[in-house]
Amino acid sequence: MTPDRLQIALSELDAQSLRRARHVLDGPQGVRVTLDGKSYLSFSSNDYLGLANHPDIVRGTLLATARYGIGAGAAHLLTGHHRLHQELETELAEFVGLPAALLFSSGYMASLGVLPALLDRHGEVFEDKLNHASLVDAALLSRAKLTRYPHRDLAALEQHLAASSAKVKLIATDTVFSMDGDLASLPELLALARRHDAWLYLDDAHGFGVLGERGQGALALLGGSLKTPDDARLIYLATLGKAAGVAGAFVAGSADLIEWLVNKARTYIFTTAQPPMLAAAVSASLRVIAQDVWRRENLGDLIERLKTSLADLPWPLMPSDTPIQPLSVGGNAEALRLADGLRERGILLPAIRPPTVPHGEARLRISLSAAHTLADIDALSAALHELAAHA
Ligand SMILES: *Cc1c(COP(=O)(O)O)cnc(C)c1O
Repeated sequence: MTPDRLQIALSELDAQSLRRARHVLDGPQGVRVTLDGKSYLSFSSNDYLGLANHPDIVRGTLLATARYGIGAGAAHLLTGHHRLHQELETELAEFVGLPAALLFSSGYMASLGVLPALLDRHGEVFEDKLNHASLVDAALLSRAKLTRYPHRDLAALEQHLAASSAKVKLIATDTVFSMDGDLASLPELLALARRHDAWLYLDDAHGFGVLGERGQGALALLGGSLKTPDDARLIYLATLGKAAGVAGAFVAGSADLIEWLVNKARTYIFTTAQPPMLAAAVSASLRVIAQDVWRRENLGDLIERLKTSLADLPWPLMPSDTPIQPLSVGGNAEALRLADGLRERGILLPAIRPPTVPHGEARLRISLSAAHTLADIDALSAALHELAAHA
């Protein structure tokens, strides 16, 4: 790209209907939002527990702000590592049941830090084809060989692992796949990682807060299979801007792993620490996540209601038991027609099209929040049935 070509390239995006635009949100994130000046019932945030504007979290953040100010003022390895960061890392490690944890400014930065800290061009990274873009970019940045296996195809993964002569191997997967809502087979992946002496890197961006009885995330699905000496191969990433309702991310694993990352993860070292008040926000959020079991129960009820009430539509829901419930539409034009029709009826739901998903697999990504009610699901269902009748 050159400066003089930008305008032409942008108009080419226009011509292919691929130009992206942002919409302006007024007021807090939630299930009722004001976007570009109009109010909507929204099924399009990752605020799965409805915590983005929770009063306890707001209060905790304000108190910490009054006491400690805003800016961290320096990177963690200089003078930016605040006691609130330190204490939150201990809390997070305990929360997910691993020995140690390290805060990052975002999930994207965490992965870009971790993979290059562990692998170089002699290594090999094995990734599910539907992994989040940040995991692909992290592998590219590490300069290791990147091998992608078909979605959830463990036999293909095992063949690749067996054929690899790399010195360091790392399997990376989303735990809950962000555009499909289905789950990776974690016990089987851990067994494969053990058998082939590979790291297992789990990106739990959509599981943390949502999965597990206390919202401890995807590791709950590994249950008892975790308590063996070689759990040191497990690297757990959760983001704090989705269900936790705040911002940032953390990586958890063995104490040695975390110590290595403090020394080697460049996206940890060469960036300013997050404001300490955000650590207070996450800490307040953890308490709500653990205590408010009803939020996860409500999500379960909403998912069930959604599946029943959308069962007779011409477009099937994709198989998922998580708050990500994609409605499989197929064609791009049809997906857009539905999203536009819903917006006219006051409902916000994004049409996900290629290249985010494979060609011919355009969908409406219904994203549920514990703050939704059964009546909200019924409103969505009524609108979709109306649109089906006018197809
Ligand atoms: C959102 C997301 C990320 C990025 O996390 P941020 O904290 O928003 O940078 C990483 N992985 C997955 C699977 C995600 O959905």
